[in-house]
Amino acid sequence: MQFVEIAVNVPQVSGVFHYHLPPELEGRIRPGQLVTVPFGTQTVQGVIVREIDAPAVPETRPVEALLDETPALTLSQVEFAFRLAEETYSQPAAMIGLMLPPGLSQQADTEFRLVSPEFKGLPGLKLTTIQGRLVAVLQRRSPLRGRQIDRAIPRTNWRASIRSLVERDIIASKPVLPPPQVRPKFVRTAQLAVRPEKAEAAMTEIGQTEATLERRGKILRFLMQEGIPVSVSWVYAHSGGSLSDLQILAEKELIELRETEIFRDPLENIEVAAARIRPELTPDQRGAWEIIRAGIEAGSSEPFLIQGVTGSGKTEIYIRAVEKVLAAGRQAVVLVPEIALTAQTVRRFMSRFPGEVGLIHSQLSPGEQYDTWRRARRGDLSVIIGPRSALFTPLPDIGLIVLDESHDGSYYQSEMPFYHAREAAVRYAALLGAICILGSATPSVESRDRAERSHWTLLRLPRRILGIDAATGAPVSSATLPPVRVVDMRQELKADNRSIFSRALQETLQATLMQKQQAILFLNRRGTGTYVFCRSCGHAMRCPRCDEVSLTYHREGEALLCHRCGYRRNMPERCPNCSSDQIRHYGMGTERVEDEVRALFPEARTARWDRDTTRKKGAHDLILTHFANYQADVLIGTQMLAKGLDLPLVTLVGIVLADVGLHLPDFRAGERVFQVLTQVSGRAGRSLLGGEVILQTFEPDNYVIRAAAGHDYEAFYAAEMTYRREIGYPPFGRLVRLEYRDLDAERAERRAGALASHLNGLIAAQTRVQAELIGPAPCFYSRLDGRYRWQIALRGPDPASLLPGLPLDDWRVEINPQSLL
Ligand SMILES: [Zn+2]
Ligand SMILES: [Zn+2]
Repeated sequence: MQFVEIAVNVPQVSGVFHYHLPPELEGRIRPGQLVTVPFGTQTVQGVIVREIDAPAVPETRPVEALLDETPALTLSQVEFAFRLAEETYSQPAAMIGLMLPPGLSQQADTEFRLVSPEFKGLPGLKLTTIQGRLVAVLQRRSPLRGRQIDRAIPRTNWRASIRSLVERDIIASKPVLPPPQVRPKFVRTAQLAVRPEKAEAAMTEIGQTEATLERRGKILRFLMQEGIPVSVSWVYAHSGGSLSDLQILAEKELIELRETEIFRDPLENIEVAAARIRPELTPDQRGAWEIIRAGIEAGSSEPFLIQGVTGSGKTEIYIRAVEKVLAAGRQAVVLVPEIALTAQTVRRFMSRFPGEVGLIHSQLSPGEQYDTWRRARRGDLSVIIGPRSALFTPLPDIGLIVLDESHDGSYYQSEMPFYHAREAAVRYAALLGAICILGSATPSVESRDRAERSHWTLLRLPRRILGIDAATGAPVSSATLPPVRVVDMRQELKADNRSIFSRALQETLQATLMQKQQAILFLNRRGTGTYVFCRSCGHAMRCPRCDEVSLTYHREGEALLCHRCGYRRNMPERCPNCSSDQIRHYGMGTERVEDEVRALFPEARTARWDRDTTRKKGAHDLILTHFANYQADVLIGTQMLAKGLDLPLVTLVGIVLADVGLHLPDFRAGERVFQVLTQVSGRAGRSLLGGEVILQTFEPDNYVIRAAAGHDYEAFYAAEMTYRREIGYPPFGRLVRLEYRDLDAERAERRAGALASHLNGLIAAQTRVQAELIGPAPCFYSRLDGRYRWQIALRGPDPASLLPGLPLDDWRVEINPQSLL
């Protein structure tokens, strides 16, 4: 008999199990193939890992069916899954599960038909009731897929009954993967349904409260001004309204809501003029490219880290590398944080490699994702662009992996199975013998440290490209980044300016509007609402027991809490540093910023870009396109603004409060703030119009703020490395995080305490492992989905070596976590 190891990944179960092959499958099985197997009382999908000589269990069950002759995973992927699992302390089957396209389990099915349609029974064979029904159903309609039979004879275990009919050749079965359907996409639009005078006259009757009146009034005025059907996302962005507002206006027959089919899928039907002409490289680009080209020619698989300021032309280098790899008959994977936010980069790839690029993004339906996946597997696509999951595309021979904005947090999967696409890409490239290029204006300190201490190659692009010289066609670049004016908000308070905008920001915003240019106002969302500081002196409250951690504000009980040691205190009435009574928590959203802009500049057309206005599919692209088309003057937004936008009319970037996020109780807080401030600042002055950044802060002397204001990565890196060395955090030590969640608050605390004391015992007994235990303490986000979260962190040279043998079944184990919040 032939035995195989199969990875099964279904809810609650993830592991590899042994099966044997039925005679008809012997000799037909290869690693990576998708099969169905019996599991408990169900039939589930699995992936063949390898053939084995002898099973680990005395009795094996047979593989039921081969779903697809062509393996779903390449051999390299199977190996990659096992390595990744080992490094992340997770199940290989869970990693294999990540590599299957999302729609696959819905796509794969088995088709059944009666071998002889006139089947009347066999001598000596008595059919069971269910078998009788199966035969009857197939006599009426044949062939049928498993899912159709589920509906025809519901709530029966017909799959078990059909087996003996298949074995006796009464019913024939074959696996089917139906062709995916591509459905048209619709977008909901709103349009004024009456004459503007009539809408104006109705203004007072469109709501009960002042707030609804105002919101709906804004909607009507906006639609009057636009005059054409407008996507509802854009209406929300402008008015702060919601669907229910629109529905009420529609009921009053003032507006008309419609579903309009969009042929202009922002991503799929991008107008891409094939641009075969390669732009000339700047001297910086040429230097970097020559080194990478030599690496490709030499077959190197050591990573290249391109540290290039915003607008320095990293994308063109990626494109050259892709060209080179494609010419050698291999394929390329290009990872970007999120396609909707990096549409401009994506367009450039599409225009340079027309017809060869496959996109993977969240707006695709499972069927479309599956289709892209299948085209990639067949070798019909040479370049795959997408978020972290695109790394798992089954291209036949990957020769290049690019990670753009390689510092971005979205490369980390913070749900089980945990993995970091950056680490994984480096590992995978080595396994494939492929080139790996990481690009960023602000590489993570860990990447930069690796580039200095290992075989990684660091390449720098310090100058940004401002445009093309019309006379010579050569790119014009400049080492000058937009000037950052730091405004000390403590001085504003002293001058009795209580607005959230400093005088400098107000004046500059006014000038920008007058010159018919655009402004971006940025507010860091991470950390608002919990950050406590003194408006007079900038002092932020720290834990008296663990100095490295700031206290965070919790609404319940008006308390300040340390998330490292559990220390708790009341909100102070006066600042312990300067005795001012101006100490409080900072809670402000983008709505508040927008209101303030409207109050100061009633004529300005504002748009909000945050979680609320972009919940709807396609909203990102719409808001961006409208803003890029100068249909708004001021764009107010959060982190999303930081991504690779190129908006030439933007000459002012205002950072409403740079300090927010600095004091989150996480050792990467400073790094994240530096990265986001640098990226946001890079949005100003992307053209020859020039530009300016105004950075408002209560802590002008903080090293993060100073470095961001000076566009000085090197200063930040040096200071951050000193800090990390002092406190023993990565890259100067490794971390493991153990998180426990429970609906019961006390049990969560008790279980965390029990594991911690067990661990402390181990640490004391083992002289080999130098590890330090941090916690147990409630997580910063102390409740998720009603569950209380507690955590324990282990820090040291190799804290993961403590894990084997621990009772961790109910725990989430994270090696090298990206956040301790
Ligand atoms: Zn103070
Ligand atoms: Zn503490």
